[in-house]
Amino acid sequence: ATIYPDRSNSAGPNLDISAQAEPFFAQLQEYQHCQWQAHPIIDGESVSGATQTVCSPRNRDEIVGQVQWATTADCEHALMVAHQAFPNWRNTSVELRAKLLETLADQLQAHQVELIALCTREAGKQLHDGIDEVREAIDFCRYYAVEARKLFRPGAPLPGPTGELNELFVQGRGVFVCISPWNFPLAIFLGQISAALVTGNTVIAKPAEQTSLIAHRTVELMLEVGFPADVIQLLPGSGKTLGTALTQDNRVTGVCFTGSTQTAQLINRSLAARDGAIATLIAETGGQNCMLVDSTSLPEQVVKDVVQSAFASAGQRCSALRVLYLQAEIADKVIALLAGAMQELNVGDTWYHHTDIGPVIDTAAQQQLLQHIADMQSRGRLIAQSPMPEETNTGSYVPATAVEIESINWLSKEQFGPVLHVIRYKKSDLNDVIAQINATGFGLTLGIHSRNTQLALTIADQVNVGNVYINRNQIGAMVGTQPFGGQGLSGTGPKAGGPRYLPRFITEKTRSNNI
Ligand code: NAD
Repeated sequence: ATIYPDRSNSAGPNLDISAQAEPFFAQLQEYQHCQWQAHPIIDGESVSGATQTVCSPRNRDEIVGQVQWATTADCEHALMVAHQAFPNWRNTSVELRAKLLETLADQLQAHQVELIALCTREAGKQLHDGIDEVREAIDFCRYYAVEARKLFRPGAPLPGPTGELNELFVQGRGVFVCISPWNFPLAIFLGQISAALVTGNTVIAKPAEQTSLIAHRTVELMLEVGFPADVIQLLPGSGKTLGTALTQDNRVTGVCFTGSTQTAQLINRSLAARDGAIATLIAETGGQNCMLVDSTSLPEQVVKDVVQSAFASAGQRCSALRVLYLQAEIADKVIALLAGAMQELNVGDTWYHHTDIGPVIDTAAQQQLLQHIADMQSRGRLIAQSPMPEETNTGSYVPATAVEIESINWLSKEQFGPVLHVIRYKKSDLNDVIAQINATGFGLTLGIHSRNTQLALTIADQVNVGNVYINRNQIGAMVGTQPFGGQGLSGTGPKAGGPRYLPRFITEKTRSNNI
């Protein structure tokens, strides 16, 4: 665990140590056939209604549970409760709100195996990704608790005329709608909610359709540790129906969104069309993430970092590497090593520790990615594709694929899966490469491999992205260490897990008192 002066990041179970691995796997088995339920939760009450079955992306025949989607009537009810609860919650002490988050972190830790099993079964995450997901959720809770105490600490009176007391206060904004994606169904879901709540806002949470069960279990844990029932409402269901109803409503004072750029643009338009108060929008969106590898790089290290960056989590990370630029002098060597490494990747069931690449989230994503691979193969050159064992026929699996293409302009949008595009460049074309990357308008992550430190720092400076990683992989940002978020088409900022995130959730009040 990384130790900070005021908290430490969580460690999670270490599966390399048998004293930790054995009890972990024994407990995990208890959740192998378990089924969960998800309903809308409004004012602490589960709303009852018709449910639908949730199947696992690992295996279409595996039932993970039942979900009941919220209706627009549920939206109205949730808005009323959240709106009414706000003044009271705003006026609770920051200490109480921060303490609740820290207790929730302990509760997540206590239930970590169940949450990891849910990540694995409902979202198709690999085991180690599930472990990291729970760790990140815990870290967000503890980090935002610490940051909120700092943000709400009363400041000294401001300078002013004799006899006048001038003070500046911060407080929550109102009702925040938190809309999250399926690829971090616990960490991002809870990261958004915890930031909004600890700063004194009430929350309506709309999780991704694909991961309602994890969201529901998380809200149950929140209520168990004592969050007031009226400050957190859960509305599982359709983004189009619920998202539109929520973002059009004037009672909503802020939206915290993570997902695709296209959806963020829809939400932005919906908020702008309202005739009420101007709402805050925090949007963290997609990317067209590149890595630049120059001829001074160490090919073995490059390949290790490329494989992790492009294919970990089946490429379903917003930070994942999509376009690998190789300087011509080193390209053949890296490509040969990469092709070899990809033959060794295990695609398969995420229940097993040895799996490298699990399924993509659903059949629609699988079909779209396979179509994209076919298109790229017909125009470009296939470098390698990882073997697909028979067991993968039962779920939505896609082989890790690397394909050589001519230009980043072949890619009209983000491909959210294990597909890597490789482009060769000449040293003399470096400035054009940088210009082409910037011209995509996306600005999330950038990887650089070079033993020329000055060059690496210059490239880092010139490419418009939120997170740069030099001589390492470009995924797995840690709370408090690598504050995460993009710019341009990739997001509004501020960075999640960073010191300037919480201020976006508050409003300020100056009081001048002529005593
Ligand atoms: P998505 O945009 O399809 O869905 C995200 C959320 O928006 C879901 O809860 C969905 O129901 C909801 N939604 C859909 N239509 C809506 C509407 N009209 N109004 C309001 N809400 C609506 O994205 P996804 O497929 O769930 O997630 C993958 C995307 O998320 C990728 O583009 C990825 O890059 C991005 N992402 C970004 C970050 C980041 O920090 N920048 C992190 C994770 C994922």
